[in-house]
Amino acid sequence: MDQLEIRNLHVSVNDREILKGVNLTVRKGEIHAIMGPNGTGKSTLAYTLMGHPAYTVTEGEVIFKGQNILELEPDERSRLGIFLAFQYPVAIPGVTVANFLRSAVNARRRAVDPQDKGIPIPEFRKMLLEKMKLLKMDPSFAGRYLNDGFSGGEKKRAEILQMAVLQPEIAILDETDSGLDIDALRIVADGVNALMGPNLGVLVITHYQRLLNYIKPHFVHVMLDGRIVESGGPELALALEEHGYSWLREEVQEA
Ligand code: ADP
Ligand code: MG
Repeated sequence: MDQLEIRNLHVSVNDREILKGVNLTVRKGEIHAIMGPNGTGKSTLAYTLMGHPAYTVTEGEVIFKGQNILELEPDERSRLGIFLAFQYPVAIPGVTVANFLRSAVNARRRAVDPQDKGIPIPEFRKMLLEKMKLLKMDPSFAGRYLNDGFSGGEKKRAEILQMAVLQPEIAILDETDSGLDIDALRIVADGVNALMGPNLGVLVITHYQRLLNYIKPHFVHVMLDGRIVESGGPELALALEEHGYSWLREEVQEA
């Protein structure tokens, strides 16, 4: 089964344990949302899945296609079919969105065949234009320098376009807690909805209940203090909107 399986994941930052045993399975064709208040470890989970060096795994594993991806370099994770969106993408002045994406595609191809000459430019251009059309993006966007002076919404657009071009099997998106305007939320949500299908599993991490008005998750999980304390369907997101997180905190304390 091509599913991402997070098993008993414990992660420390600067010797402080942040994730305290996270278990979660994301199958292709499913959208999972992780919600929770600030500081509960949501981004720590995303960064750990990305392989950020500041996050030390002390226990547990993350299995995809029979491999523990925690043992792989970030680019190897990507080649395996996992897409990790960066919460704070870096600007690369002088490199256009199109060139950046073409390099990403070619790096993939060379990893499979070191002799590969790269995707022919007309073929790449055609594919890129198709993806941009699917995502309702203006073709001129491809000629802009990557993230250079991009608004929050444009950064999200670049991220979603990268996802469309790389065609991952599992996509993990960590949404900023602050400064994310409704436009940016919609770009992410519309993008995920456009790309969603039986060959894609999505894990969207969000502080914002509002995002889930646009993305309809099949499963909602609540993270509190480094653990997933509650899982349910979309109705769980509605309960959180109405009652906040405090009722879950009390339940956790009573348990
Ligand atoms: P969330 O995304 O749920 O708001 P985070 O994963 O960002 O939570 O943070 C969880 C805890 O881990 C916080 O106490 C935060 O200060 C700490 N933390 C996360 N990343 C780092 C880091 N790179 N350096 C130091 N502390 C960190
Ligand atoms: Mg966060």
